[in-house]
Amino acid sequence: MPNPFTVNDPELGKKLLKRLERELNPPLRFMEVCGTHTVALFQSGLRSLLPPGLVHVSGPGCPVCVTSSGEVAFALELARKDEVILASFGDMLRVPGPEGLSLKGIKAEGARVEVCYSPFEALALARRHLDKKVVFLGIGFETTAPVVAATLKEARRLDLENFSVFSCHKLVPPALKHLLKQGRAAVEAFLLPGHVSAVIGLEPYRFLSDEYRIPSVVAGFDPLDMLMALVMIAGQKKEKPAEVQNQYQRVVREQGNLKAQELMQEVFAVKDADWRGLGTIPASGLGLAAEYEAHDALKVFGQEPKIVPEPRGCSCGEVLQGLIRPDECPLFKTKCTPAAPVGPCMVSTEGSCAAYYKYKVSA
Ligand code: SF4
Repeated sequence: MPNPFTVNDPELGKKLLKRLERELNPPLRFMEVCGTHTVALFQSGLRSLLPPGLVHVSGPGCPVCVTSSGEVAFALELARKDEVILASFGDMLRVPGPEGLSLKGIKAEGARVEVCYSPFEALALARRHLDKKVVFLGIGFETTAPVVAATLKEARRLDLENFSVFSCHKLVPPALKHLLKQGRAAVEAFLLPGHVSAVIGLEPYRFLSDEYRIPSVVAGFDPLDMLMALVMIAGQKKEKPAEVQNQYQRVVREQGNLKAQELMQEVFAVKDADWRGLGTIPASGLGLAAEYEAHDALKVFGQEPKIVPEPRGCSCGEVLQGLIRPDECPLFKTKCTPAAPVGPCMVSTEGSCAAYYKYKVSA
């Protein structure tokens, strides 16, 4: 088993683990809602060192995984148009859409689909191919939305008419509220995402403590960060009223990143969004503001995504809500593997099915 504390301070790690055991009043079921936390918990080996009774579940924190089947189907529809070059992050290309076809699959059949590492690369594509309509498939949370907003501002400044964004961006706090309202996942604490929180700050999570009395801690991504955050969660459970605490103070400020927030407010408009497995959640997504409709793929093509059923037999919806573990899906490791994924939770490097598979986790 890897030693999760070698990069930081092994002695501090051991002390924190002992403190966690002392403070913890098990059972306690906590959820992380960040793909980077999902991977870091498994990769570091920390998950396997957690005290008995401290139960970890992953929530809807993987951007590729929460992109709905309808949104994937719509991206496929756009990419099939002769005049379109569709650009997106690499993992999205392998997500199976209706009838199992993916963007990668239709690229092999001749559609123009390009991988990019930043939306600015998609913008550069548009500048090079003025005879085509370049559509950037924008996925992700409050972390990636500001850079897409900056790209759209640049497209507007350049008056680049052949560049548009199909915005599938989603907002984390409304999804957490939705999960708690449903009350099915029995979550007792949240490990909050460091990157998202660096943008939005702590205030948007305040309902967790005020309305639901659920402890939550914003955590960094080193094993010691996550361990310290779990100690703070256990401490809240034991002796304090629930609150929103910030373990990741070296990066996350109380108010978040005001410039990034302004940028998002200028370019995007909050709208209802369709989440894989969670359905439509009010005010949980970002569409383009009216001033940017010349670059809004929905307006450019005059079409809207439809609601499309999940792949048959895939339990990503339950996995993303923390209702089942990935290895409880009947298709896990049988019909669904990273080489032949049925659902996005097995495609994405940040998906919990892929993490369970890669790190050979069992209950
Ligand atoms: S194992 Fe595959 S089919 Fe099952 S939930 Fe995960 S991604 Fe979906």
